[in-house]
Amino acid sequence: MIAWAGSCRPRCQGFGSWGGVGVRGRFRSLGQGRYRDLGARPSLVCRPLLPAGRSRLRRGCAGRAGPGHEGGGGRAGALAAAAVTAVALAVAAWRRARPVREVLFFPSRPCCIEALLAEAAEPGAPARPCPCPLPSGDTALSRLVRRLLSARRSLDLCLFSFSCPQLARTVQLLHRRGVRVRLVTDAQYMGLHGSQIGRLRHAGIQVRHDQHSGYMHHKFAIVDRRMLITGSLNWTTQAIQSNRENVLVVEDAEYVKAFQEEFERIWEEYNPANYRFFSERH
Ligand SMILES: [Zn+2]
Repeated sequence: MIAWAGSCRPRCQGFGSWGGVGVRGRFRSLGQGRYRDLGARPSLVCRPLLPAGRSRLRRGCAGRAGPGHEGGGGRAGALAAAAVTAVALAVAAWRRARPVREVLFFPSRPCCIEALLAEAAEPGAPARPCPCPLPSGDTALSRLVRRLLSARRSLDLCLFSFSCPQLARTVQLLHRRGVRVRLVTDAQYMGLHGSQIGRLRHAGIQVRHDQHSGYMHHKFAIVDRRMLITGSLNWTTQAIQSNRENVLVVEDAEYVKAFQEEFERIWEEYNPANYRFFSERH
């Protein structure tokens, strides 16, 4: 007979099934929250009920069997725990289904995004600590990076100025991951010291720019033709760390459609095939 430490079972149920597919054959349910240990190692593996693509096994509760503690509290306890699990899963599903509506205000505290990039580059890989002294907490910048990293198919960028190395690395990572990245920018600002446009071009990302005297002054991004990220923020370290700026993140089909059409218009207008380097008058 085996009894479970109090913290073990609820944590397990929060992430997956219990006593069924979640337990790998070394325990047999005897009812009333009791389980017979069938030998081998006293460990178990929960099978997480996560969306496709996030299905790595969560190893938890390993060998948390302890003497003298009767876990579960019988049938009533099991029913209550199952109800809690069902509610938690329903809330998680509702959160996933709810369209994103988020406002980010800058300046953002300086933060390290290495862990975010590492997780995006190699999901599930053990985290390697970054030697830099910056904290890796929840900031406006880290939230913006997370939204960008949610891209799976396309990322369309229309940015007046782009000199933030962290955001450039985020975009490069998406490009390496097979996301189709297109970038429209301003001809005068793309040549300034610190601009990341050359680096992104060098990485193979398609970049187009204006050829007018007026600025290409937009600052918006569209993720997977689904999510619009727009506001006053230029993608520069100066703006991110020092300026008062706002960024709106919305999953709204109407707004996305309007911005997507604007992007496609500009993308075609700035097609190098349409450049006129010399006056047509002779
Ligand atoms: Zn760091």
